[in-house]
Amino acid sequence: MDELADEIRRYIFSNYTNLMTLPEQKTYRSIQEYDRRKEMDPQQVSILADKGVFKEDRNFTQKEIEDFYDAFILRVIDSGEVFFNECPYCGQLARTPKGRQAKCGHAWRDHELVEEDGIKRWVKMGN
Ligand SMILES: [Zn+2]
Repeated sequence: MDELADEIRRYIFSNYTNLMTLPEQKTYRSIQEYDRRKEMDPQQVSILADKGVFKEDRNFTQKEIEDFYDAFILRVIDSGEVFFNECPYCGQLARTPKGRQAKCGHAWRDHELVEEDGIKRWVKMGN
């Protein structure tokens, strides 16, 4: 996966998991649980399963996980509910939809978000 796709995935999964449908939430929880289990030794897993920490033993292939991520990302982008908060100077994605700075080092606290024809963009105030 290229760096931009990685960055988009990170952005959507850290800011937009609230847009998941119930079946998506369920699969996402299963994947997260699977991720935790596979880092542990089997004995530890079975102790935690007995304590009810792990509720299932569903396994995923890397491809199933990738496919799930891609399908969710495409669906929410398609829904139009994702705002890609890009630096108005260089286009780098900020960490959150409301952030006013990005890793590029630019900050745009003197900008306001303007929406025209359904498209949001940052405009420098006083212009
Ligand atoms: Zn920038």
